[in-house]
Amino acid sequence: MPEYDLVIIGGGAAGFAAATKANDLGRSAVIINDGLPIGGTCVNVGCVPSKHLLHLAELVRRPQHPGWPSIGPVTPSLDLAAAIRGTGELVETLRGTNYIDVINSLQDATYVEARAHFVSPKVVEAGSNRYTARMFLIATGSRPAAPPIPGLPQAGYWTNREALQADRLPAALVVIGAGPIGLELGQAFLRFGSRVTVLEVEPHVLPRFEPLVADELERALTDEGMEIHTSTKVTAVRTEGSRKIVTAEVDGRLRDIACDEILVATGVHANTEDLDLTAAGVRVDARGFIETDEHLQSSTPGIYAAGDVAGHGFLETLAAKEGAVAVENGLAGATKTINYEHIPSAVFTDPQVASVGITEAQEMERWNACSCRHVEVARIPKAQAVGDRYGVMQLVAHPETSVLVGAHMVAPMAADLIHEATLAVKFGLTVDDIIDTVHVFPTHSEGFKLAAQAYVRDISVMACCIG
Ligand SMILES: Cc1cc2nc3c(=O)[nH]c(=O)nc-3n(C[C@H](O)[C@H](O)[C@H](O)COP(=O)(O)OP(=O)(O)OC[C@H]3O[C@@H](n4cnc5c(N)ncnc54)[C@H](O)[C@@H]3O)c2cc1C
Repeated sequence: MPEYDLVIIGGGAAGFAAATKANDLGRSAVIINDGLPIGGTCVNVGCVPSKHLLHLAELVRRPQHPGWPSIGPVTPSLDLAAAIRGTGELVETLRGTNYIDVINSLQDATYVEARAHFVSPKVVEAGSNRYTARMFLIATGSRPAAPPIPGLPQAGYWTNREALQADRLPAALVVIGAGPIGLELGQAFLRFGSRVTVLEVEPHVLPRFEPLVADELERALTDEGMEIHTSTKVTAVRTEGSRKIVTAEVDGRLRDIACDEILVATGVHANTEDLDLTAAGVRVDARGFIETDEHLQSSTPGIYAAGDVAGHGFLETLAAKEGAVAVENGLAGATKTINYEHIPSAVFTDPQVASVGITEAQEMERWNACSCRHVEVARIPKAQAVGDRYGVMQLVAHPETSVLVGAHMVAPMAADLIHEATLAVKFGLTVDDIIDTVHVFPTHSEGFKLAAQAYVRDISVMACCIG
């Protein structure tokens, strides 16, 4: 039986970060992957193809809406088949450089393509081989889940996987779920020319984000032409000829919405069912995600979990961080933990959404007091110069110390802007530290400083670049 320091089940972000860390520590590792190709979700069916299509969608949209009377609109043509082909080529290239080349460069790492499951706490079986190791890492990720809506399986639907390989542009698309994936792909198809209706059961789009920010994004998307219904439950789906009819309770009344395709973006299932976890004594929580302690170790000593399958968040960056931390703990005797309030996340709609730390509601829960300020993006001189009409940046500070504990924004390039806030939250900077830091003029980043200044002065009557 081949013996390694580390057996990793799953060849995505978490698995590759773990193999790289093991290699850095001079330990041997085998990655066993099956299902998605090498690289897992992000490169094959997630971040990479979705961000590429969103960029193409922006290229289609911008010339039609230059935003200034001095520039006439132009309507670019779109070849969807060529766009999907281009996406496939990009995926193949990045799969090569970011995963195949990487595994080949690691001296003591092996890659095996096979379905793996536990035989005991110390043995994993994959294909005709059994593997043993000092440490095991479950990094099997997640897959799209569809809610049990009567008629949905019979009518057929897209998840992100089918949408990213669309062979046609649906004239009308219904998106069930207004989380990051539903809104990103919904906006891409809206810009490509589909009529898009989004149905969300929660009262706000992006239910896990700061409501102030989520509502502002909803305003931007609605003005762009997306039809959005929140607090709306889909009750049934049926087909009529070639059309699909989605029945939903909208504003207390049942309404039929006809469409050509349905995109389900309501969440994920953990890939744990076929791992024979009982043979290893590994417990899962009520949602099927692996239970871990703060060091990412499962209920069985020596077996760790990282990435989507651990259920702490659904981000490429977090998966990689967890993969590396688990290996340091499992193989190098470290006792590292991750502060999840220091992990930024983003939604790549236009405008983008980004967030780090706690929200206003969480602050109220924690300290029964709130110290929050926000600034509309339209107040930022750079936004005025380029004509940005949407956006808001909100800061959450500790009510007694003024240390920044959260930042939430919907703004152009928010996914880039959030890093200043992330450093501030991570290293305990105060509102005054932000105000005292000179920001380049004119930039969208100034909005962050402006929001900090809102704690100490009336920002509606303030000259540019005041400290
Ligand atoms: C449309 C979309 C867009 C996204 N955009 C972003 C973004 O912009 N930024 C961001 O940070 N995150 C984004 N994400 C999330 C991100 O892609 C995931 O959080 C991340 O890829 C999870 O990595 P992982 O290593 O946990 O799992 P995965 O990458 O899913 O890897 C798990 C691998 O294990 C395999 N496997 C499963 N079971 C077994 C088994 N029994 N034996 C062997 N192999 C098995 C799977 O097939 C897969 O290859 C996006 C996700 C989607 C779906």
